[in-house]
Amino acid sequence: MKLHAPILMYHHVGDPPPGSTNPALYVPEKKFAGQMEMMAAGGWSTMGLGELAGILSGRAHRSRRRFVVTFDDGFADGLSAAAPILERHGFAATFFVCSGAAGRKIAWERSKETVPCPTLAWKQMRELAARGHSIGGHTRSHVRLGDLSPDRVREEIVSDKRAIEENLGAGIDSFCYPYGDYSPEAAAAAREAGYLAAVSNRRGNRHEPQDLYCLRRITVFRSLGAARLNLRLGLLYHVEHALRGD
Ligand SMILES: [Zn+2]
Repeated sequence: MKLHAPILMYHHVGDPPPGSTNPALYVPEKKFAGQMEMMAAGGWSTMGLGELAGILSGRAHRSRRRFVVTFDDGFADGLSAAAPILERHGFAATFFVCSGAAGRKIAWERSKETVPCPTLAWKQMRELAARGHSIGGHTRSHVRLGDLSPDRVREEIVSDKRAIEENLGAGIDSFCYPYGDYSPEAAAAAREAGYLAAVSNRRGNRHEPQDLYCLRRITVFRSLGAARLNLRLGLLYHVEHALRGD
């Protein structure tokens, strides 16, 4: 049986910076707070991807109404804006960071957003971890893995994991493909690196054991309303995207 466990994908909590070329990535604080309130009121609680992997592979028991909150790119507003809102409800999230960009202001080369934004410094990542959140890998330099040779793919994934673990002083167990660029080769590299699970940009909220390295997520953009989020949390979400053909 498939495991129903929505994995929400966010990038930023807050307002877009002046001149933003991709404001969709910025979910206003009030809206994010409302979404987390809705989850808490609905009886949902968070889990990490390591735990989800344990359930999917039969090592842990499943329980109802568990969801995962993920933030791509490790922007600094994850600590300043998102974490306090999550913690009001006892929720914890996973922040996917690029070790090569830690503590810098960045705009990814191939992203639609061209305004550089500050990312979490190592100290801030350690603080998030100390507060119960998880850090995950997102490659060293936010590359599109499909463009790289198998050796470079392994290098981007393995050296990133090592750098994060050294700086955190702890192991990490989950990975996120930049640009959602999943491939069987990249999945094999993530598995060999020692990750227990990896998330993609495929849509959906149900998972099977063979999806461990290309887990489906629900993208939360600025414009997503409560009714539509609710629909995506439910078991009908696969019907919505089946009808749209994606
Ligand atoms: Zn990314």
